[in-house]
Amino acid sequence: MSGQFLGAGVYRLAYGDMVIWALADAAGRFSFAVLKDLAPEEIVALTGSLANAEDQTLARSLNAFVVKRPNVLIVVDTGLGEGRVLADGLELAGLKPEEVTDVLLTHLHRDHVNGLLAGQEILFPGATVWVEAQELAYWRQKAEETSDERARTVMAKLNPYLQKGSARTFGAGQTLKPGLETIELYGHTPGHVGFLLGEGERRVLFFGDVAHVAAIQFSRPEVTVTFDVDPAQAAQTRAQIYQLAARANYLVAGAHAPFPGLGRIKALSPKPRPTYAWLGLTV
Ligand SMILES: [Zn+2]
Repeated sequence: MSGQFLGAGVYRLAYGDMVIWALADAAGRFSFAVLKDLAPEEIVALTGSLANAEDQTLARSLNAFVVKRPNVLIVVDTGLGEGRVLADGLELAGLKPEEVTDVLLTHLHRDHVNGLLAGQEILFPGATVWVEAQELAYWRQKAEETSDERARTVMAKLNPYLQKGSARTFGAGQTLKPGLETIELYGHTPGHVGFLLGEGERRVLFFGDVAHVAAIQFSRPEVTVTFDVDPAQAAQTRAQIYQLAARANYLVAGAHAPFPGLGRIKALSPKPRPTYAWLGLTV
């Protein structure tokens, strides 16, 4: 399997009946404190050069993905929009936002939905935006009934599509169209989902925020982050989907996996508890 880097932050891979582009959002960092129950020394030991022990921060990866399949052009998560990742990335890939037929959202955190708009304008005028029903209900209620700033920001990105009638909800586990299945990955947020795209042997699993720090959460799947809505469920989901992806040998696309965020998961020793490794695109 070989792909190519098309320029800063854009990677292209032909896979089965698909062409996948990975787009890197602007680099960022987050505090060690985001990782629960892990001492700073452990974080440094596990992440090496990603960590800055002095200011106790870790480098953050953030990827959005674009997939071309027969008759469809799909965007999976839209990034923070810093550096206009989608508009610029699509241009480098030779694609236009108006050609996008479907936008799939793994969940409604701002680093996945901000890119829905360019400024105040809808970026994908021809697309259906797919959002899990429980996820939408959760954030909508939070935005309407509390003063939660994050919920309001997220709904402001989604509202233009809802008002125009081009956003659609689905239930986790539903098949949206041939070769486009959804998988329940609840925990990180109440309606967090994955998407399984493609046919036969060559399918790719987009698993959103199942893992935030690959260098830690494959060998230590039990480590959770402070922005998990239900940390225990998030950890359980992570263990289950790692096992499924390793067994099926799916190509996996992770929003926070090291750019280009594509790779496979290998099961390591099952004892004393199952651990895994992120293999990237080496196999
Ligand atoms: Zn995220």
